[in-house]
Amino acid sequence: MEKKLPEPIMRKDETTNPGRFIAERAMDHVYNLTSLGPRPVGSFENEVLAVNVLTKEIYSVIKKTKKVHRISFDIQKTSGAFPLMFLDGLTNVYRNVQNVIVKIGPLIPSPYSVLVNCHFDTVADSPGGSDDSASCAIMLEIFRVISQMEKPLTNNIIFLFNGAEESLLQASHGFITQHKWAKEIKAFINLEACGAGGREILFQAGPENPWLMQAYSESVPYPLATSLAQEIFQSGVIPGDTDYRIFRDFGNIPGLDFAWLTNGYVYHTKMDDAAHVPLGTLQRTGDNMLSLALNLVSAPYPNHHPLTGNLVFFDVLGAFIVRSSEAVASVLSISILCFSLYTVFLNSNKISLDGLPFKVYIWQMFICTCVVLLSWISSLFLTAATALLLSVLNRAMSWYSRPIWLLFLYIIPSLFLQFAIISGVSKKQNRVRNSLFTQL
Ligand SMILES: [Zn+2]
Repeated sequence: MEKKLPEPIMRKDETTNPGRFIAERAMDHVYNLTSLGPRPVGSFENEVLAVNVLTKEIYSVIKKTKKVHRISFDIQKTSGAFPLMFLDGLTNVYRNVQNVIVKIGPLIPSPYSVLVNCHFDTVADSPGGSDDSASCAIMLEIFRVISQMEKPLTNNIIFLFNGAEESLLQASHGFITQHKWAKEIKAFINLEACGAGGREILFQAGPENPWLMQAYSESVPYPLATSLAQEIFQSGVIPGDTDYRIFRDFGNIPGLDFAWLTNGYVYHTKMDDAAHVPLGTLQRTGDNMLSLALNLVSAPYPNHHPLTGNLVFFDVLGAFIVRSSEAVASVLSISILCFSLYTVFLNSNKISLDGLPFKVYIWQMFICTCVVLLSWISSLFLTAATALLLSVLNRAMSWYSRPIWLLFLYIIPSLFLQFAIISGVSKKQNRVRNSLFTQL
């Protein structure tokens, strides 16, 4: 399941797959962008060449667009400043960063839009194949597919190719606080990468607005999502951030944040080139984002979401999404806890029928619980010690390109230690138990 990617659709199969996302077309865009080399903010490659590549591609789509669509195009140059609570916090000041923006919607104008965002700039030493050229490529291809649809959209989709993300989220801030289309946005999709290939994971949704999760679980053909990732990411332990934060905090817009994670060792390095982006990955993310964008854009804005509150969500083996409100999840957890305590009570009743005093039973239960906790804590220390040893040997991330090593370095030793502690103690406990019963 983890490795399975859809069969990519090639140009030659286009006629037999009308209205579909063509992975090979998207891959061409990845090559066009990465062939410019690294595109740090302010460089000629980023501000001139990359903007030209995107503009040229967008215009070639506009030329062939079906007559039922209205398309507007804009290049925004924007300056501003904002406080950013990233690492220890900073004031982020920017001048003349660029956004390439195209909006597609019905001929009778709708006042509501859905935003799809990526960034075309890179860190200084990387061609940025997966981060974030591939997302730009996917958006260009989705734009082309929608422009060829015979039916007009209900509302608008705004594709934002922002030109300053790696300089800490500047261009998205310029767009959402200053662009004339920003006020009409009701929801957004953000496409990011901190790895090349694999499956894109939905790792942030909201804030609140559970209808977004509903749209996701109803529309995407290949779901992969977990609110556990959201908890971890929003706790701040991962030193990274995405434009999601900017749209949420400065635009007050709810949205969905996606990223690729597989082969994370290429992230922000010169290895992050087009060759490391698999066609199947483009097909998968393309199919998902096309369906999701079409679902979101057809919602009856502005007030169509009676659902409120936060959601607990996860996918089951990539087949479907389970989602529930936080309240339902809490009730479920508490009932499982109550049920467990009830079984303890039932067992104690049964044991006292055998003649063992209730007090002794509870004491033994307590010891067992402590032993399990002890085994967990010891394996935590073992894991930390292994990590420390690898750091001292200057091999801290040596497993990153071969994640199977995690099994041998951490998982098996941890499980073995837990097993050793529990089986050691249970031998002793068995002797205690036997002597108790002989006394009785
Ligand atoms: Zn990025």
